[in-house]
Amino acid sequence: LPQTHLWGDTTIVQASSSALTGANLETVRRDNLSAILRHVHLHPATSRSAFVALTGLNRSTVGDLVGELAERGLVRESPGERLGQPGRPSPTVHAVADRAVVLAVEPAVDSLAVAVVGLGGTIHELVRVDRPRGHTSPESTVQDLVDLVHRVGAVARYADRMVGIGVSAMAIVRRSDGFILLAPNLGWTDLALDRMLVEALGMDLPVTVGNEADMGAVAEHLRGAGQGSDDLIYLSTEVGVGGGVIIGGQPLAGLAGFGGEVGHIAVNPEGRICSCGSRGCWETEIGELALLRYAGHGGDGGREAVDAVFAAAEAGSPTALRAFAEVGRWLGLGLASLVNIFNPGLVVLGTRFARMHPFTQDAMQRELDARALRMARDLVTVVASRLGVDAPLLGAAETAFAPLLRDPIAWVERHDRLAGQARTA
Ligand SMILES: [Zn+2]
Repeated sequence: LPQTHLWGDTTIVQASSSALTGANLETVRRDNLSAILRHVHLHPATSRSAFVALTGLNRSTVGDLVGELAERGLVRESPGERLGQPGRPSPTVHAVADRAVVLAVEPAVDSLAVAVVGLGGTIHELVRVDRPRGHTSPESTVQDLVDLVHRVGAVARYADRMVGIGVSAMAIVRRSDGFILLAPNLGWTDLALDRMLVEALGMDLPVTVGNEADMGAVAEHLRGAGQGSDDLIYLSTEVGVGGGVIIGGQPLAGLAGFGGEVGHIAVNPEGRICSCGSRGCWETEIGELALLRYAGHGGDGGREAVDAVFAAAEAGSPTALRAFAEVGRWLGLGLASLVNIFNPGLVVLGTRFARMHPFTQDAMQRELDARALRMARDLVTVVASRLGVDAPLLGAAETAFAPLLRDPIAWVERHDRLAGQARTA
């Protein structure tokens, strides 16, 4: 399946030239329907007059496009509110959350999560369950995910309107086909997780597999702390450290999709061996093992040991507070380089970095102030994620909407034809 960015090109194309051919007109109409549905998906209750202002299309064209989406059941209109202006209020357009849904799944190290998300971003179902470390073989993980999918009723109740499946994986993922090349903290190499999931679920649906932090960046950008910020860096940690970079409103992927692996920037040449095989990567100074090392825990104490460090810090333990400050110092050191390279407006600290933020922020800010170029430093704000641990899962959901948002009418026609066949069979 072609991998396309969720938001793609949202430019509205105007059919103003009389030289357009019939085929071109169809393309223009498809693109305009796509752009309007994308906008409604992300911005609930947009008024028709706002669409006129946004698109530059005239009122009757906007009315016609919205009318077609409404006829297909993808949006509904409600009477607008009178805001003191003369004339009739403009109706507002809403996505119909039940008409089309996606399934999102996330195999993390310490947990598995599944969500069913409707058009417009309505979360119909979301469940996350803890799992013990070390039980992460691909086969058992897929089976556990499938059990979870059934537990939330995703197949029984939503299969008839499902657009696709989005997977958030803590892995290096080939963008062209979602193939997982390496997931060091899960112990996976060379894995077609998409095919395994589709076969285990018995659902013939498009699957998009994305890197966890890339997915988190997408979700925070579209619906979280990064809304309105087109140049942002998202950082995430569980065991390892992941990063997602959005520049100019587009995710930075590199040639094959392997870009943005900020956890493996070398920050300490004399440092420890990293899960990737290199030495002194950023992950070895701000990842889970580093926190535990700074806090005086030997070996891999896992999640319970991390929770103990948090509890100790909350109780004011100087050792625990020093450990977080050390993570903060290295966090600021690495961030200074990222800020100098990318000149982001926002850094969003996701998942466990968000939980650490109250304890790490002072040391992080100090280091960032000392090392980043002043011009870039002055323009960047560092914030905790708004979507929390579910950001990557919700980002995976967003990418799964792509086939519908790219060509709404084609999706509806194919979907309704298949549904009709299923009824007569
Ligand atoms: Zn590394």
